[in-house]
Amino acid sequence: MKAVPIEQRLTPKRSHIHGWGLFTKMDLPKDSMIVEYMGEVIRKSVADAREKAYEISGEGSCYMFRLDLLRIVDATKIGCMARFMNHSCQANAYAKIISVDTDQGKQEPKIMVFSNTDIKAGEEITYDYKFPVEDGSLKCSCGAPNCIGRMN
Ligand SMILES: [Zn+2]
Repeated sequence: MKAVPIEQRLTPKRSHIHGWGLFTKMDLPKDSMIVEYMGEVIRKSVADAREKAYEISGEGSCYMFRLDLLRIVDATKIGCMARFMNHSCQANAYAKIISVDTDQGKQEPKIMVFSNTDIKAGEEITYDYKFPVEDGSLKCSCGAPNCIGRMN
């Protein structure tokens, strides 16, 4: 993963699911590490406030990923391509939080995205957002045969 720059492996393109999607330019065998979901780590209360602000300013999509109960990764402003990933009920990738040792000898959580099946070059990379039910039901239009019509 480190050897090949991200621009040569992945590309954002218009998706039939929603807006922009993340597509792979190369074949990815099952269990490949695809990309890190990078962004700014913020507290839940800050995330809630920002979400409202993004809504009001009409910034459109907001890209947030729950790290744990207290922390959220906000990729809206400083994220990488990973934020373009769409939800699908038949996802071909999954996100996993792993602990990485920092230079200071501390542990830092990182969100890594892995393939859960063989993905062919040109295919869109999707994962199951697994939104908590408290956020209300969001409509899903992924088009998978097993689509349940909502994201949670
Ligand atoms: Zn669906």
